[in-house]
Amino acid sequence: MRELEKQMQHICVVGLNWGDEGKGKIVDVLASDADAVVRYQGGANAGHTVYIGEVRHVLHHLPMGVLHDGILAVLGNGMVLEPAKLLDEVELLPEEAVSRIRISDRAHIVLPHHAAVEKLREQSAAHPIGTTLRGIGPAYQDKFGRDGIRMGDIMTPGFIEGVLPGKLRELTQRLGIPGEGIDEAIQICNRLKERLESQVTDTRQLLHKLHQQGKKLLFEGAQGCMLDIDFGTYPFVTSSSPSFLGLGPGTGFSPRKIDHVVGVTKAYCTRVGEGPFPSEIHGEEAEALREAGGEFGTTTGRPRRVGWLDIPALRFAVELNDLDSFALTKADVLDGWETIPVVTAYRLDGEELGQFPDSLTDLEGLEPVIEQWPGWSQVDEVSMRPFIDRLMQATGIPVSILSTGRRRDEVCVFEPFRAEGELA
Ligand code: GDP
Repeated sequence: MRELEKQMQHICVVGLNWGDEGKGKIVDVLASDADAVVRYQGGANAGHTVYIGEVRHVLHHLPMGVLHDGILAVLGNGMVLEPAKLLDEVELLPEEAVSRIRISDRAHIVLPHHAAVEKLREQSAAHPIGTTLRGIGPAYQDKFGRDGIRMGDIMTPGFIEGVLPGKLRELTQRLGIPGEGIDEAIQICNRLKERLESQVTDTRQLLHKLHQQGKKLLFEGAQGCMLDIDFGTYPFVTSSSPSFLGLGPGTGFSPRKIDHVVGVTKAYCTRVGEGPFPSEIHGEEAEALREAGGEFGTTTGRPRRVGWLDIPALRFAVELNDLDSFALTKADVLDGWETIPVVTAYRLDGEELGQFPDSLTDLEGLEPVIEQWPGWSQVDEVSMRPFIDRLMQATGIPVSILSTGRRRDEVCVFEPFRAEGELA
């Protein structure tokens, strides 16, 4: 276990499962002590929800920090931005909050032809991935194929009228959907430029300056690390690196400067889309858990697959993210359960495995080994202590934040986030 006492300037929050862990709320809690909140990957496929009082706020591109006064909300170069959706989000904010947004000039843009080509691919695929169909994967393909359109491009005088139409004609021709969405793309890029030009900047340089001024940065990964393009359950993954490892390429800020990585996990597990999910449960038990947890997608409304907390998967996530502490969410969903089923190992061909396998074939043949861990009457520090201690024994990592409900103020914080002498 790590020493937690050191002074913290920069923190990173990552999802440890398959997304939807409640990162939005944890980022919101930690943002009150940050100067800037920075997103480093993904696009409008994220859906962060936070309840301030009973008012529900949902953000897709913008980090939760934007809802706090005086904090910069930075969209890093690793993101792919969907203009219409970003403009809708901005529309709901007061002008003062919009003035605190900074958008990387290197962030890529998701255009209508990206969504069109993704729909065609998912519809015709023998094994669809179950993506959000927003065009995010194809936008990343264009980025790595060196064909992408970046925020800085459309801010360049003359680019939208002079260069973009020809480029889109060439791209859509190559994709077999000639001319698809070109007029719409030009229109939306013009609107984006008009509304947000003054927010576009070199965010790498900005973050470096903020660091030098001693400002506190809070980074957030969207989705979850089990969906990481390299280390997740490929090919059933997202198109970017939601793990802590994505922070460097997604911002240009050195991960060596991050003082603490907090991983968010629910007290059970969920997954959207297709692909391996070793602790998945089915039938009435699953339906009851899904209903109790309100497990329906924020972005798509799709019912989420549900399962038990998966310790081998968490151990993998701890290693991958170089994790310092857990933020445990949605434990209130299991209030009153005498014992909590937890997957502590898997069986594969008669052998017991404590680690998450790398191979997709192995993942499909796993049989979970379930233990019953102590339950709690209600989520608070005392009732949950036996469960939290058991989690730490199994993974070597302490819980630093315990979310006790969906509202912003329903939270217990422990070391190192609790100031000396402060009670949770
Ligand atoms: P993200 O994609 O990881 O940011 O996930 P969301 O922010 O969309 O969170 C998933 C849902 O869980 C949202 O509806 C949150 O309001 C809700 N939520 C977060 N933490 C808790 C919690 O501790 N208890 C309950 N009941 N709901 C929570």
